[in-house]
Amino acid sequence: MKSAVRESIGSADIPATMLAVVFTAQDHFALREVPTPRPGPREVLVRVRASMVCASDAKILAGRFPAIKFPHVPGHEFSGEVAMSNDERFAVGTRVGIEVHVGCGTCDRCREGMYTLCQNYGKRETGHAHVGFTIGGGLAEYAAVPIAALHALPEHVTFEQGAWTDNLGVALWALERGRMAGGEHVVVIGPGAIGLCVAELARALGAGRVTLVGRGARLARVRDLADEVIDAADVTRLRGTADLVVEFAGTAEAVRAAIGLARRGGRVVLGGPTGTGVELSGVDLSTIVLGNLDILGSLANPKGVSGRALALLADAKVDVTSLVTHHFPLRSFAEAWQTFTERRGGAIRVMLHPAEGN
Ligand SMILES: [Zn+2]
Ligand SMILES: [Zn+2]
Repeated sequence: MKSAVRESIGSADIPATMLAVVFTAQDHFALREVPTPRPGPREVLVRVRASMVCASDAKILAGRFPAIKFPHVPGHEFSGEVAMSNDERFAVGTRVGIEVHVGCGTCDRCREGMYTLCQNYGKRETGHAHVGFTIGGGLAEYAAVPIAALHALPEHVTFEQGAWTDNLGVALWALERGRMAGGEHVVVIGPGAIGLCVAELARALGAGRVTLVGRGARLARVRDLADEVIDAADVTRLRGTADLVVEFAGTAEAVRAAIGLARRGGRVVLGGPTGTGVELSGVDLSTIVLGNLDILGSLANPKGVSGRALALLADAKVDVTSLVTHHFPLRSFAEAWQTFTERRGGAIRVMLHPAEGN
């Protein structure tokens, strides 16, 4: 056996308990001292170094993911270092970023590389895992993470940047769905964290012009991440002009706008999470048919796309550091949560640092 193998938790470097955010019941959370998770087969223990909160966490807390049972340790946008491992590819000390979808590996979708659509979603016994959703996540000092979710961070990528492994993959996948070509006019609707990653990646991949559409004070703040920013109220002047529209706002209104902005023969990628039950009205179908539009849904980050996104990050093609507006130690989670959910101080992403100041 390799020296990387550590047999037992409670050894010199791994404490038996750890600090974690626990969603205890719908609409209730607490910071708790809980048993440090023990990695199962094909898993490693990750010592979390940087971890962000996201709107999905608010939905989990609100009980909008019926598959998720309370109590639950959330956190799905994180990075850290391997602290226990019996896999030599990810030995102790390896710096890793996490992508959150792990497929069963054997269903028809997994065999296509579309493990984000795994037919065994939620069935842990098949090997499926959705990190921070159906299994515990990274808003804690440690997390047991399936090896299939790990990406070794390139040398010059910091832990803070590495926490974007999943998000950047989601953004890059949306652009790949839309078959962006060099020189094209790309419109991004929704200046949240993922939309901003899309805008940056579109520029990095050679878009001719990137227009960011949104609302309010945030637009001014993110001005430099696109060639132009436009308030959603003024968007009709771009009607029928975009080669590619990427939507990450998650509302029917944004989707209507997205379809209207595409030029004839253009492409529209819908990535904003609406949840179930939101219907689309007010679209003249001739816009789609006579316009020969491609309207594409985009879910998450299949086919190892997060690994390619990390290569762009390592090459300084995208800047995620400026999207993290606030930093907190894990023990200040309540303040971090309020800052994020109330968008205090123009919060875009809020980062927790479990290895510091606890
Ligand atoms: Zn997220
Ligand atoms: Zn599967």
